[in-house]
Amino acid sequence: MSLDDYGHFDVVVVGSGAAGAPAAIAAARSGARTLLIEKLPFLGGNSTAVLDTFYGFYTPGDRARKVVGGIADEVVAGLRSAGSVVERPNTYGAGTGITYLGEHLKVVWESLVEGAGAAVLLHAFVQDVVVSDARVTSLVVATKAGLRRVGAGVVIDASGDADVCLHAGFGYEAAGTVDPAQTLTTTFRMANVDHQARATIGKEELHALMVEAAESGAYDLPRREGSDHITPIPGVIATVMTRVEHAEDPTRNAADPDTLTRAEIEGRRQAIEYARFLVDRVPGYEQASLVALSTQIGVRETRRVYGDYRLTKEDVLGASQFDDQIGLCGAPIEDHHGRGATGTNWEYLPEGTAVGIPLRTLIVRDATNVLAVGRCFSATHDAQASVRSMAQCMAMGHAAGIAAAQAVNIGGMVRDVPVGDIQHRLRTDGAILELTTT
Ligand SMILES: Cc1cc2nc3c(=O)[nH]c(=O)nc-3n(C[C@H](O)[C@H](O)[C@H](O)COP(=O)(O)OP(=O)(O)OC[C@H]3O[C@@H](n4cnc5c(N)ncnc54)[C@H](O)[C@@H]3O)c2cc1C
Repeated sequence: MSLDDYGHFDVVVVGSGAAGAPAAIAAARSGARTLLIEKLPFLGGNSTAVLDTFYGFYTPGDRARKVVGGIADEVVAGLRSAGSVVERPNTYGAGTGITYLGEHLKVVWESLVEGAGAAVLLHAFVQDVVVSDARVTSLVVATKAGLRRVGAGVVIDASGDADVCLHAGFGYEAAGTVDPAQTLTTTFRMANVDHQARATIGKEELHALMVEAAESGAYDLPRREGSDHITPIPGVIATVMTRVEHAEDPTRNAADPDTLTRAEIEGRRQAIEYARFLVDRVPGYEQASLVALSTQIGVRETRRVYGDYRLTKEDVLGASQFDDQIGLCGAPIEDHHGRGATGTNWEYLPEGTAVGIPLRTLIVRDATNVLAVGRCFSATHDAQASVRSMAQCMAMGHAAGIAAAQAVNIGGMVRDVPVGDIQHRLRTDGAILELTTT
């Protein structure tokens, strides 16, 4: 089939989530002619379509240490100037969270990406790629004007689902084939909540109320340890409560079109049910109303590519350090799977430590000119359950954008870019590559 050309770009970034948007910013700032392709009508992926809290900036525990900076800091600064941001210091869970308004973040991403000089193509779905000698030379993109061909020097697969690698035939592990894929969550927000009344009960009491309500048979609540949290808007609470399994077949994941369709419908059904439970049974919610469902269901993992290195559980829990590390992660393994009341496993790194994220986990093993970042980077199921936090996705994107831009001048050979040059540039940009001893 002959396709109309959309143009040729030094660097093409597929997917504009917490990983892809920083990748486009970094590549464009490094002088590469960059195109960011996104299938949704706005930038941000999970960060704007599903969620409102950045985790991973700090290590959890009694003495939080900051482990991510650089472009990620600029994103937070942009949010602060757009409106209010709530920092929620936590010693448990994934540590301190930075809660923002998703609608502001959409505009912050646009302003940073376009300000860096990258071109943006929204409502554009990458459907196929052309590969020659392990090189992705062009991508086939579905647009409202039909299919278009986009030429690329270097490609960054930030689709979350490793779509570029799938279409190219590069190796990946499908979530669910070794360990159960992490469950899916439709988030929702409630307005007109009385914060003072809500604060009269803690997390454990909320969970006890969920168990009681579910066991009474009056409510269908598959997950009984979900959470709610304050937002920058007084009276508005956001939740991460619903839990959708992968149909009856645990080897499936949300990259399967039918599984994803069923999950979207089931997630919304559950959200309405949890909202009913909150209004009926939880102090502070008596006068509240559900005001928003996430734009789409939140997907934690689908495909994880095979890179030049695969980060493991042992690396994470042992806080391994690597010569080629481009960022840090102190977030615990937070593995959402399993049926019933509990089903989220938490495993922590030693207090105050962080694992390095090696550049090799972003370099796609089977390709010469492709990097994969974000939740589809090269890691085992457990390691991904730690490093998928959005601050880490931003750190990966930042590094990959620099690496891609530098590779443009050497025929797109991402492996041949001296890692020291990338690390130097990252440090200059304010990124954090190692913990200082204090
Ligand atoms: C329910 C839930 C709760 C979570 N809670 C938190 C939290 O509170 N804090 C935190 O830090 N992390 C949290 N996480 C983890 C975190 O949100 C994700 O790991 C992270 O956002 C992944 O970013 P990403 O850029 O890799 O992928 P995504 O955010 O999924 O972005 C991928 C982008 O690529 C686009 N795309 C996909 N395929 C194509 C294609 N073929 N063509 C064009 N575009 C495409 C998508 O539309 C999307 O915009 C949570 C995750 C879930 C699901």
